[in-house]
Amino acid sequence: MSSVVVRNLGGLVSGRLGDDVRPVDALRCEGGLLVSLTDDGRAADVEIDAAGAVAVPGMIDTHAHVVFADWTPRQSMIGWIESSLHGAVTMMMSASEVHLPGRPSDRAGVKALAITAQRSWETVRPAGVKVLGGSVIIEPTLEESDFAELAAERVGLAKVGFGAFPRQADAAPLVRAAQAAGMIVMNHTGGASLPSSSPVTIDDVLTLGCDIIGHANGGTTSLPDDALPLLFEAPGAIQLVQAGNLRSSLAILALAVERDALDRIVFATDTPTGTGVMPLGMLKTVTELASLGHLRAPDAIACATGNNARVLRRDEGILEVGRPADIALLQAPLGGVATGALAAIERGDLPSVTAVLIDGDVRAMRSRNTPAPIREATRTR
Ligand SMILES: [Zn+2]
Repeated sequence: MSSVVVRNLGGLVSGRLGDDVRPVDALRCEGGLLVSLTDDGRAADVEIDAAGAVAVPGMIDTHAHVVFADWTPRQSMIGWIESSLHGAVTMMMSASEVHLPGRPSDRAGVKALAITAQRSWETVRPAGVKVLGGSVIIEPTLEESDFAELAAERVGLAKVGFGAFPRQADAAPLVRAAQAAGMIVMNHTGGASLPSSSPVTIDDVLTLGCDIIGHANGGTTSLPDDALPLLFEAPGAIQLVQAGNLRSSLAILALAVERDALDRIVFATDTPTGTGVMPLGMLKTVTELASLGHLRAPDAIACATGNNARVLRRDEGILEVGRPADIALLQAPLGGVATGALAAIERGDLPSVTAVLIDGDVRAMRSRNTPAPIREATRTR
């Protein structure tokens, strides 16, 4: 891990809900961490002229359909995680390795898949992106005692909603066992996306009591409108995904604002899925929900960074001294009305990504996926 100095910044977004843009014009990273928000003039291994770009935390996708390495069987594609890096994504959480062709549903197979995926993702980081993988799929074949065994094997995630339960609420005792073992449990919400599983209704969501209400705006098909206020009666984070129902997302967001509960909202993509591979899925969600949902850009970004990190119990997602240096530089797109990245987001234009750092290492400069910026960031050393 090298030392990096970024100069000529046009401000910094902390990733913490409610924070204003900080008037920061330089930052320094060492040993993978952000160590200073000023320039003391010392040289660094790598030096970047941000050309007025704003620094934001790297996006954390809390619903990514990873399987193994940088491959998605759902869209027969490789390289999609590396492509997401070019959409400012620096961390992904597996929504379970459910797309593995021939995935097992028997007790031994379900456990073996979760452990194998955990071991693999502990080692493999496509393009440097941190993938929290190995999410056990809660099936009726599992027993409550299995979760302590899996947790001891470092499986920290579980997903409910794909298992062959007559009603998904029947999985509640297994969800409790997973939570007691320290796992972060996410449920599928809404219509079934696999023919073998039953839909997840609002009653199921309330009974399951998961840590993350996965795609609360529908993975395939959303909940009825009158069920949406009840999401706020459940304990978990409320996830809004790019691949879901935009109308439901906006309705849930309005309810969150009304209840002063934006801290419960986490953005995600729910891709790759039938919707496709969407390298700009996180940025597009931030931009759509800021512009149509009337959120300040820093708050929309917090819903894709700091809020997500808190739910995943990670130190990333917030830009402050002592935290991991997972950083994206955002600039206004060329030819747009806005002169800054945050103003572009608030009017519904995708910003340009001009650099992405993970653990203080430069993983990409100008994104090959976002629009051209009004000014490029450049490496001066
Ligand atoms: Zn999903």
